[in-house]
Amino acid sequence: MTRQSGKSQSTHVSPSVPIGGVQKVSLVDYPGHVAAALFTIGCNMRCGYCHNPELVLPDRYIDMIPEEDILLFLESRVGRLDGVVISGGEPTMHAGLPALAARINAMGYLVKLDSNGTNPDMIAQMLDEGTLDFIAMDIKGPLEKYQEIAAYPVDTTAVVRTIQLLRASTILYEFRTTVVGSQLAFDDFASIGELIKGAPRFALQRFRSGKTLHPAFRHETTYSDMEFEAIKKVLEEYVDECVIH
Ligand code: SF4
Repeated sequence: MTRQSGKSQSTHVSPSVPIGGVQKVSLVDYPGHVAAALFTIGCNMRCGYCHNPELVLPDRYIDMIPEEDILLFLESRVGRLDGVVISGGEPTMHAGLPALAARINAMGYLVKLDSNGTNPDMIAQMLDEGTLDFIAMDIKGPLEKYQEIAAYPVDTTAVVRTIQLLRASTILYEFRTTVVGSQLAFDDFASIGELIKGAPRFALQRFRSGKTLHPAFRHETTYSDMEFEAIKKVLEEYVDECVIH
C-alpha cells in the first residue's frame, strides 16, 4: 500500500543523482512490497564480489537516465507500486539524494535505501526529514576486515556511526552480509553479531558466482546450506530474526 501523503517535500533545486538503471517492478527488493528499484552510479568501495561493476568502475559506467524521466515514470505508477528502492552503487555519495528521496516520498511511496553505511551525516539528515521508511545496510565483515573486503580505504568509525543511528531510529532497517567463503571465517559471524547486536533483522546473502567486479571472484564459493544454518544460529544470538538469501 502506498501512503496517502509524503512527510516532506524539497522546494530548492538540488544536484541530480546519477541513475544508471531502473527495475520497473520488483517483488524481492523491498520486503513485503511491490516496488521499483533505482540504481545509482558510483561507489566508494570496490568489493571483489560486486555484481554491478558498471555502477562501480568509472571506465565501465553505463549511461545515465535523466532523473526527471524517472520521476515521471514513478508518477505514472502511483497506486500500482507500493515503494521505491534506491540502490547502487552507493546512493549516499550523491549530494542530491535527500532531495530525490523527498520527491519520491512526496508522491506517497514508501522509500527504501540500500547503503554501505559510509555516510552517516546524510542518513541522519534523511532520518530527520522523515523521507525514508526502510534502510538495508551492508555489513562487509568484522570492522578489521573492512579494508580487505571493500578493497578500498574505509572509515569504519562512519560505519559504526550509521549502525548506531539505525539502532536509535524508529524506521524499519536490516543489516546484511554477502558471504564469500574465503573472506569470512566461521568465527567472524560472532564479531559481526556483536557489531549489530539488538537489530531486528539480519540477512545472510549467499555469494553467487557469475559477473563480478574482480575477475578472480568468478571462482570463489560460499558455505554449504548446512554451514549457513549453523551461521544463522550464531547470528540469532544477537538479532531478532536472521534470514538466508
Ligand atoms: S557490493 Fe561493494 S562495490 Fe558493489 S555497490 Fe556494494 S559497496 Fe559498492
